[in-house]
Amino acid sequence: MVIVVAIDGPAGAGKSTVARAVAARLDRDHLDTGAMYRAVTFAALRDGIDVADVAAVAAASRSLDLAMDDGTVVVDGIDATEAIRSDEVTRSVSAVAANSGVRAELVRRQRAWVDEHGGGVIEGRDIGSIVFPEATLKVYVTASPQVRAQRRSAESGSLLGDLDEIEAAIAARDLWDSTRDDSPLRRADDAHLIDTSERTVDDIVEEIVRMLG
Ligand code: C5P
Repeated sequence: MVIVVAIDGPAGAGKSTVARAVAARLDRDHLDTGAMYRAVTFAALRDGIDVADVAAVAAASRSLDLAMDDGTVVVDGIDATEAIRSDEVTRSVSAVAANSGVRAELVRRQRAWVDEHGGGVIEGRDIGSIVFPEATLKVYVTASPQVRAQRRSAESGSLLGDLDEIEAAIAARDLWDSTRDDSPLRRADDAHLIDTSERTVDDIVEEIVRMLG
């Protein structure tokens, strides 16, 4: 049976951890769509393209050779799994994600991925609202701003500065993502809200698997 589980939410809410664990539990494939927007941003910066140049960035997204397998992200034949998480990419990714040409191209690739993989667990910002409005199950994960900042700090090995700065950077990215015109971050009406602040991954996975019935 084709199952599409859409997991959306803001930065640091626990989407990737939950999405990976649900995919493993269901023995399905997992697609991190944020990594796709990061890959386009990485390629644009690498090629010296101004991220504000809408036409050039959209063209770059269409010609991008992107392969995502088992958690690795290969851009134009080179492993960019770590490079797409750099501060530079993180600072510019929301501008790239607001580009409608880029979104059209990446949504096309996301739908093709689901066709090829026979469904899966897809995480992002607009998966339940725009990309797969008919998803089998939609989940919207959140966490308190403090918890989200602590998680980002732990992931980076505290290289990112103090917690207040991280919290401010996350809030700035959320503001960009939730106020853009094209496919803003928002909870689909029929998405189940899960606050991950004080819960274990196992407990959340159990809840999601139970909802799938
Ligand atoms: O999930 P992650 O934080 O890696 O996503 C990076 C950025 O990609 C987000 O801040 C957002 O601008 C963009 N994004 C998006 N739509 C998605 C997934 C990510 O606009 N479906």
